[in-house]
Amino acid sequence: MDFPFENTYANLPERLYTKLPPTPVKTPRLVAYNEALAAELNIKGAPEASVFAGNTVPEKADPLAQVYAGHQFGHWNPQLGDGRAILLGEVGGQDIQLKGSGPTPYSRMGDGRAWLGPVLREYVVSEFMHAAGVPTTRALAAVTTGEIVLREAPLPGAILTRVAASHIRVGTFQYFASRTDAPALQALVDHCIARHYPDADGPQGLLDAVVNAQANLIAKWMSLGFIHGVMNTDNCAISGETIDYGPCAFMDAYHPETKFSSIDQFGRYAYNNQPDIAAWNLAQLATSLLQLMPDRDAAIEAFTESVNGFIPAFQKAYSAVFMSKIGISNTQDGDMTLVSDLLDRMAANQADFTNTFRGLSDGNARDQFVDPTAFDTWAEGWQARIAAEPDPKALMRKTNPAVIPRNHRVEEMIQAAVKGDFGPFERLNMVLATPYMLAETDTDLAAPPTEQEIVHQTFCGT
Ligand code: AMP
Ligand code: MG
Repeated sequence: MDFPFENTYANLPERLYTKLPPTPVKTPRLVAYNEALAAELNIKGAPEASVFAGNTVPEKADPLAQVYAGHQFGHWNPQLGDGRAILLGEVGGQDIQLKGSGPTPYSRMGDGRAWLGPVLREYVVSEFMHAAGVPTTRALAAVTTGEIVLREAPLPGAILTRVAASHIRVGTFQYFASRTDAPALQALVDHCIARHYPDADGPQGLLDAVVNAQANLIAKWMSLGFIHGVMNTDNCAISGETIDYGPCAFMDAYHPETKFSSIDQFGRYAYNNQPDIAAWNLAQLATSLLQLMPDRDAAIEAFTESVNGFIPAFQKAYSAVFMSKIGISNTQDGDMTLVSDLLDRMAANQADFTNTFRGLSDGNARDQFVDPTAFDTWAEGWQARIAAEPDPKALMRKTNPAVIPRNHRVEEMIQAAVKGDFGPFERLNMVLATPYMLAETDTDLAAPPTEQEIVHQTFCGT
């Protein structure tokens, strides 16, 4: 295979990373390859399992593990880093990273490996997010390693090849801020501006750009009923992409307080907390960047204003996307009341989030409600309002997916793959690549879980 690698991160100061190759595995087998993404990235040649397993390091790669820190569930952890990931280099400005590629100096007690379940989950969910227009890391390939990984049980090992605009996180800045290393912070600022926000001017410009990108990102998550599950500062990407698909899940029945992650005991990262948490994470970025500002008092004032701008920016993006979801393109005063009223009724009636919104254009939204008259009384006002809209149906059909990676389908896919059957994985990928269209033969994938099928908890999957 030929990767036209550049290595701009590897050329930053050495204390930002540790250079080391991936650890080879026993018997690599390619189980997924994203041809379309490979073509976009101009990666040539037939896919080789040995490359995506880390057994063969491509010629122009300069492999390394990045160091970072972070607040995990609000608690400061001064030393994190790629404990099981290796950055090979960048292709077309995009990081190519192997995840599950063996221990590094940042592995702490971990084995540096991943098992097949989380690898396929991230593959399916991140590719769906991309298809649904959400900024996200992508999946280029998945291999099984032929090795056993010990978790709560012995499980098949696997490696994901992840593509990202970069893997720089709020936690990367925090690591160097906590060491009062201004030169490293400056190098990171310059690097992030060059790669992600070429129009941004200095730390203030970078902060504003990240605030804006995160506001748009979280609004998109909310519009899909997506719950990230582990919004620690080390999982908050400077690029504004969704990163780290550990315990993430999509809601079936709508409730604003929904959470899935087994380790999120107090619902810190529940659906409706996500905007506030993003703002909190951005405050940590602002604090880190303060060290670069000669006039600290003036900077505190300006940065506070930037971070305070997150919630209004989020609300603007949220309103825009939810207006489209109910078919309104020319917003008028009071339109958002239609949205909040609908959501309240959905919560009271255990209405399926995805199918209710899709049902607005498909004509079966009321069927999602325990008491369908709760929908009917809302729909009277809504119908009257959208009568004035040019083509509400078309707008709704391109904003409300017909199908999402439902938790029970993802679990079912993982169970099959562990037994060697990758059919459900391939089918999910194929159907989710065009989530706004659904063939008659695939409607089973759009159905909410039965009582027995409901997934109540998700796990970090390390
Ligand atoms: P995450 O919860 O996936 O964001 O990971 C938090 C930290 O734990 C990161 O620094 C990871 O690199 C590290 N980590 C997670 N799983 C493993 C593992 N199996 N081996 C080594 N490090 C790990
Ligand atoms: Mg992480």
